Amino acid sequence: MQGPIGRFWLIWLTALFALGLAVPAAAAVPLKACLTKLDPAASNAESLVRETASYDCTSKQTNFGSGDFAVQLRFAPLTSSPDDPLVFSHSSVWQGWQRVIFHYVDGTTTAVEFSSAEAAKFIVIGSTFQIEVPPRAALLDAIHVETRGSANWRGVLLGPQLLKRSEAAKHNSLLIALYAGFAGLSLALLAYNLALWRALRHRFQLYYCIMLAALAVYTFTSSGAAMLAMPWMDNNDRLRINYLLLIPAGVAALRFMIDYFGRDIFSNGLRRAIDWLSVLMIADSVAFAIFAPWFGSWLDGIYFWAGTVMLGLVFPLLYQAWRARAQHFWFFVLAWTAPIIASLFRAGHAMGLVEYNFWLDNGNLIALSIESLLSTVLIVARLRGLSVERDQARAGERSALRLANSDPLTGLLNRRSFIALAVARVQPHRLLLIDLDHFKAINDKLGHDTGDDVLRRVAKTIQMIRPSDSLAVRLGGEEFALLIPMSRISECPPEMVLEAVRRCEMPLDWRVTVSLGHAEGRVDSDEAWRRLYRLADSALYRAKSDGRDRACRATDFTEIAAA
Ligand code: GH3
Ligand code: MG
Ligand code: MG
Repeated sequence: MQGPIGRFWLIWLTALFALGLAVPAAAAVPLKACLTKLDPAASNAESLVRETASYDCTSKQTNFGSGDFAVQLRFAPLTSSPDDPLVFSHSSVWQGWQRVIFHYVDGTTTAVEFSSAEAAKFIVIGSTFQIEVPPRAALLDAIHVETRGSANWRGVLLGPQLLKRSEAAKHNSLLIALYAGFAGLSLALLAYNLALWRALRHRFQLYYCIMLAALAVYTFTSSGAAMLAMPWMDNNDRLRINYLLLIPAGVAALRFMIDYFGRDIFSNGLRRAIDWLSVLMIADSVAFAIFAPWFGSWLDGIYFWAGTVMLGLVFPLLYQAWRARAQHFWFFVLAWTAPIIASLFRAGHAMGLVEYNFWLDNGNLIALSIESLLSTVLIVARLRGLSVERDQARAGERSALRLANSDPLTGLLNRRSFIALAVARVQPHRLLLIDLDHFKAINDKLGHDTGDDVLRRVAKTIQMIRPSDSLAVRLGGEEFALLIPMSRISECPPEMVLEAVRRCEMPLDWRVTVSLGHAEGRVDSDEAWRRLYRLADSALYRAKSDGRDRACRATDFTEIAAA
């Protein structure tokens, strides 16, 4: 995430942020809603147009419960001019049917009505209804909204306002850019993280991908874009889908957090609480999607409170991660602060502590963008940490293996690993057995430590002159061997070994020589190896008996003679 890619993400996020700031700047006239509950039998809301006494302008809308309503919006008279007419806008909520009656100062009215199945005609991105006020010479002074089958879980009429068509168009295109930017970000992050997950298969990556996928689809439905793509969709069904999608996103986010830090650092109690709550929320959202509006206020209540508790559980999770000194902890906090604050505001609104505003529905997009992006940075950092750990483990393994396979004094192969490597070779080889001459005298005269030093120097010499495909071993004591493939024997003739040892600088300028016996043959079985060793050993014996400091080549004759 560094370099040009990191800069690319940063520019994207900054652009989203700037868009986010620009969107609510539309010049609109907010309207005050006054409410009265309708008798389901009384269908003539027009009679309510003139009436004011029974309207309640102060109580919380949700206090009225579900049902049919008339909403009155009165304001200082405004013109809806033909070249830039007014647009009446309000947020989409669960309802069966709605009629909007525009009232002009001359006492005339016009009405527009639509059911939730026809909502696509009026819904725009940001899931608000925008209804154009028919232009008249007379000024507009009131709007009456009649709704049937209003669930009223969040309110009957939310965020009502009037704005000019040009302003609405500007606002809408900014919102489209914002949602498209978020959708693009989610999809790009999803593709990136899916590719990473396919390669590395850590569980936290998968949870993160599920979260991103759920959020991407949630953006599509909650923004209302789904209605533009599928105009036949019932707006209430769109709300059902919203409920279904937010839960997997939330559940996956918590799982991601747990697996990212490592399950072991969290208490069993906390993990179990999250499990149960996840099950409850999934069951609740499925029940809501199937049954709403029946039991709607119950299911929505459970949804809301379980969601709030779930959000609350982020705090003990973070606390336990902090106590365990989890890696990247503060960066994690940074990533999650924005969505937590956004969710707290939503919770505050549902509890009646925060008044409805546009950002309650749309602010979490920016928050989730920040979170998604920073989480990807976290994932990359974690993966880098894991790969460093893995490399260290592998290096440790390799050095342990090297230690087990090598002679501690000289660093050459030891007898066991040499034989194992030798018998795995199929092509014919030359074996050189190299034995120091009168080594016992060195030990006796110069001491054992100096003897060790001589052994190390001889080993180093052999190591330096041996061809790259050969094997060099300390067979034991002061006896070494070199196994060279026949194809490379010209690179290291026996005389070269003798000469190299003679030239090698030794402690106290002691003159050290070796005797060498060599033989050629196959090594690809235990038996072949033993035969070759016997041959070379008898040649070595002859080199010793012929006066040392020389090389002798074995023939079958010498083997027979030795036997
Ligand atoms: P020759 O020329 O016939 O090979 O005579 P030599 O003295 O080299 O052979 P001999 O087999 O008589 O003696 C080998 C000596 O090597 C005896 C032993 O103490 C010594 N030796 C064996 N392993 C080590 C070791 O790891 N370090 C030291 N310093 N000496 C060792
Ligand atoms: Mg010797
Ligand atoms: Mg010896």
